[in-house]
Order: sequence, then structure tokens, then C-alpha cells
Amino acid sequence: MGFCDLILKKKDGAELTREEICYLVKGTVDGSIPDYQLSAFLMAVVFRGMTEEETASLTMEMAHSGDTVDLSELSHTVDKHSTGGVGDKTSLVVGPLAAAMGCTVAKMSGRGLGHTGGTIDKLESVPGLRTEMSKDAFLLQARQIGLVIAGQSGDLAPADKKLYALRDVTGTVQSLPLIVSSIMSKKLASGAKSIVLDVKTGKGAFMQTVEEAEELARAMVNIGNSCGRKTMAVISDMNAPLGNTIGNAIEVEEAMQVLKGEGPGDLRALCLRLAADMASVALGFSDKEAMQKAEAMLDSGYAAECFSRFAVAQGAECDPLANFDVLPKANCETPVLAPMDGYVQSLDARICGAVSLSLGAGRRTKTDRIDPSAGIRLAAKPGDLVKKGDLLATLYSAHEADPALLLSAYQIGEEKPILPPLIHTKFF
Ligand code: URA
Repeated sequence: MGFCDLILKKKDGAELTREEICYLVKGTVDGSIPDYQLSAFLMAVVFRGMTEEETASLTMEMAHSGDTVDLSELSHTVDKHSTGGVGDKTSLVVGPLAAAMGCTVAKMSGRGLGHTGGTIDKLESVPGLRTEMSKDAFLLQARQIGLVIAGQSGDLAPADKKLYALRDVTGTVQSLPLIVSSIMSKKLASGAKSIVLDVKTGKGAFMQTVEEAEELARAMVNIGNSCGRKTMAVISDMNAPLGNTIGNAIEVEEAMQVLKGEGPGDLRALCLRLAADMASVALGFSDKEAMQKAEAMLDSGYAAECFSRFAVAQGAECDPLANFDVLPKANCETPVLAPMDGYVQSLDARICGAVSLSLGAGRRTKTDRIDPSAGIRLAAKPGDLVKKGDLLATLYSAHEADPALLLSAYQIGEEKPILPPLIHTKFF
């Protein structure tokens, strides 16, 4: 069998066998299949799709294409994954919150590219906080505190790394089976027994409509469950950014506010929902019981205490919960003012993400350096009534920024808008 035969088979819409998918993944990792053939294959998948069996085979082969994390000595392990959103700092809250409820959150995160850094970059904006650690230290902290978040060591799902890099430059990211297998292979390799997926929908998400997001959620939940991981998904809105901050240090600050019982309502609500779902899948709580416990753990300060123990264990010089001043601050602050009176109709999350990236809060290429102090603080969000000259947002950056950059994200009009729900659907 040559790989060209598999490209032709997929081009004609036929189903590949497990052996053929194994051959694809092996050849991807050992470099025996050249990039041009892989790219042609990926495009054939974009047009022809994959059956459930093919998607499951691809996911499992990719999950076992490199190192896997063994968490079997820990109890009630649960992981949370978001398909990517602007201002999404939920991991910083739901990690300690789920741990406070009795789950073990032993999370390895990559850095990735995007409008802000990933969870690891955000955490590293806390002076001293380290995310590199040995496997033994990782497991010990998970046992002692119930929460550890480390940068990826070893080579988890290298087939996905290679294929994702190719998809990024060949217009083949948007394909349901490729997205499902990419995300779920990494989750399976990361070792947690239970998985909660936060599938975003809207302008700032991969999946622009609720229907598309539901299809993605259903496919990922089916694969997770069929691979022996208790998996559920929540569909949440990503038309506007989550919370009021986009960046790294300022997102840490906002997450700390939620842990202290303050912070924006949308962020608190989604964190409670996700943490309750983590406790449901990992500990078997009913939905009502899990939500009551999540609220109690947040409001009693127990989740905040758990974050402080985690931060100290990972080397933080000062607890950011006790004092936000330890977080880095930007040189320049640029106000963005309302150009007219009216209600904020919408705030385009995609444009906010692009502005955040241009301010230095994210990276375009793997070698870019993130400015931890850069970002955006939103003063007005959809549904808010503003007057001409009111503050809409503040841009934080190393150099003077152009406020017009963000103005195009705001739509202001006379009518009070009807806002989409924050949480759409749940899948088990
Ligand atoms: N995130 C991933 O890890 N993979 C995809 O294909 C899309 C989003």
C-alpha cells in the first residue's frame, strides 16, 4: 500500500480501515509520508469527512503516537478543555474550585498560539510561579493539593502536532473529524479519567453556530466515552469576550477576583457550571448537589485557599490573591471612548482577540515573546448603556496604542439588545 492510494480512497469518499489510519499516523510521526501528501489527504478529509469509526481510530492512534501521562495512581482525576475563546481564564478558577470539591486536577498545558497566552503563560505572569517540574513532583503535588498545572513535558500526541501545523498553513483546520481527533487525542494522552469540554460558539469561536458547536460536542463526548473516559460538554457563548479582561496578568487578576467572590457575573457563572460538571463526572454528584457544592466552595473562600496553596507549591513569590500589585503592569494605558450615546449592541470577540494580539498579549509564532502586562480591560459590554465620551475599554501595552483598533469591535445603537444565553446546551 502506498499513501497515494489512501489519498485517492478518501478523495472518492470511501472509509479507511484502522490499519490504514495506523499507517497514516505512523508515517506522519516518522516522517516517511511527505508533507505534500499529508496536505492532500487533509484536504480530501475536509471535503469528504470521516465516519465515526474513522474518527475514533484516528483519535486513538494519535493519542498513542507519543508519550502518555499515567495518572492511574490518583483518584477522581478530571480535566477541562475549552475549544478556545477570547478572555477565557476559566481554568484558573475551575482548577482550584474542582480541587476544593474533592476532584484531582493534574493538568498539563501547552503554550500554543493566539490572541493571549495559554493557561501556562497566564500563570507565569505571577512572579516566581514555575510550570516546569519533574514527573514525581507533578504527581506528589496532585496528591497533596489536588491541583497541579504544568507545561507539557515529553511528547504528547506528536502526530497531532505535525498534522495541526500542516492544517494551519493549508486551509484545513475547519473539519469536524480533524478538530475532534486533534482535541481528543491530546485529552486521552493527558490521562484524566473524566473530561469536561467547554465548546465555544459565536463570532470568536471555531464553531460559529450553536448547531455546529453541538455537532462537535456530540462527536467529542461520544469518542471520550467510547474510550473509557467519562466525558461531558457544555456549549457556551463566545460572541463577546468572557469577563472584562483579555491578556495574561490582567486575566489572572480577574480570575482572583472570582475566587474572592467578586468579578464579572458571566465569568463566575461559567466557572461554577464547569466546576459543577467536573464534580458530577469525577465524583458522581447530581447536578443540583454539584452546583450547590461549587457555590459553597467559592463563597466560603475554600477554592481561593486551594489556589494559594497551589501557587506557593509552584514557587509564587507572593500570593496574587492577597495582592494584585505583584502582577506586572503595562507602561501605557490608552482609553477607548464611546463615539455616541446608545446601548452596546455587540462586541466582536474576534476583533478583540486580534487587538489583544497586536498589543503583545499573544504570540503569532512559537518563538514570539508574550508581554504579560499587555491586554484589554473592558468597561462596557453588550447590553450596557453608554454616553458619548464614556470609557468603553482601556488598552494596555508597552507603547502608545491606537484606540481606533478596538472601536470597530463595538456596535452601538438605540435599541436595548437581546443577548444570547451564556450557556446553551449540555451533552453527556
Ligand atoms: N484545538 C485543537 O487542539 N485542535 C484543533 O483542531 C482545533 C482546536
